[in-house]
Amino acid sequence: MKKIRLYTPGPCAVPEEVLLEMARPFEHHRTDWFKGYMKDCRAKLKEVLQTKNEVLIISASGTAAAEGAIIGCHPPGSKLLTIEGGKFGQRWGEIAQQFGIDVIRHEIEWGTAIDPQVIADYIKKDPAITAVMVVHSETSTGTLCDLEAIGKITNAAGKLLLADCITSAGCLPLKPDDWHVDVAITGAQKALMIPPGLGFVALSDRAWSVVEHNKTQHAYYLNLVKARKSAEKNDTPFTPAHLLIRGLSKALGILLEDGIENVWKSVAAMAVATRAAGQAIGLQLFSKRPSDSVTAFNAPEGVKVSDIRGQLKERYGIQSAGGQEHLKGKIFRIGHMGYVDDMDTVLVIAALEQVLYKLGHKFELGAGVTAAQRVLAERL
Ligand SMILES: *Cc1c(COP(=O)(O)O)cnc(C)c1O
Repeated sequence: MKKIRLYTPGPCAVPEEVLLEMARPFEHHRTDWFKGYMKDCRAKLKEVLQTKNEVLIISASGTAAAEGAIIGCHPPGSKLLTIEGGKFGQRWGEIAQQFGIDVIRHEIEWGTAIDPQVIADYIKKDPAITAVMVVHSETSTGTLCDLEAIGKITNAAGKLLLADCITSAGCLPLKPDDWHVDVAITGAQKALMIPPGLGFVALSDRAWSVVEHNKTQHAYYLNLVKARKSAEKNDTPFTPAHLLIRGLSKALGILLEDGIENVWKSVAAMAVATRAAGQAIGLQLFSKRPSDSVTAFNAPEGVKVSDIRGQLKERYGIQSAGGQEHLKGKIFRIGHMGYVDDMDTVLVIAALEQVLYKLGHKFELGAGVTAAQRVLAERL
């Protein structure tokens, strides 16, 4: 008997009620039936993403939402600064380049977060910069940047701030409106607890005025103006992934029942417990500024990442993530997003201890679970 236990930082585990909701018979999408789900999701998304702005629902993954935003926010003559400290930061620079947008791609060491002052210096040095794009929680390295501090800088300078919030929205403290985030982007399969296939993007008034005046934009499917026009009528410009939207309505309801701030606290507690466990069993954290939605550990000396992940999966059905690019074989990652709770966290730590023990890593068996238990028990 083997259970499927999903601890990857996307796709994340989906509640059974959500899966069942999507399995029920469905109607056509140009109906009041579908409009009801759209209306419900539009309201709930604003609450989960903590914004008064319309949250557009795109029937494609988070990357598509980001691509639409990048294209829309960059009419000719604009210039983008991207901050790249991991796989996803790189992706936004690549998209800008592919569409011929004038872009400065600032690379930082993977596992570190951008010093907001560096952004301030760039803007000062190069007034032609019109927008800055950052990854709030860089999933590939488990690293969080100070989005609020960056927003203060870009706002004071009158520049647009685009933020990949794909592994922060719905799991980490995020206040796009208060923090002057002009474009907040997220996706379905991380903290929002539905299967992959939807992307989301919320734009500030300032960002909308750029998008609306961008007459040359090359996007057709990802045209944000068209998406907003339809959304205002609880509709979509093209055939929506309507069963995912039905599932979304249920999943957002579950998050909001707990209260989004309580969800943030719970995710933080799971991350703190996991880091405490790692420390207790001699695992080194990869990130210098860890995100609470995903923890990246270095593999211990003499133990292969592929063996750790392979054993976790083989023995306990636990799916974890490895490292990408030059981090392949160096780190492994465990997510704290989606349908996971405290006891799921204790479970993955217990399994990890058993696997590491068998693989010859030296530590006191049970020390990680004890450390995690202490964090979780003291919280209640
Ligand atoms: C998962 C992820 C993406 C990519 O989203 P897709 O839904 O796979 O397109 C982008 N950025 C971050 C930070 C992510 O975690």
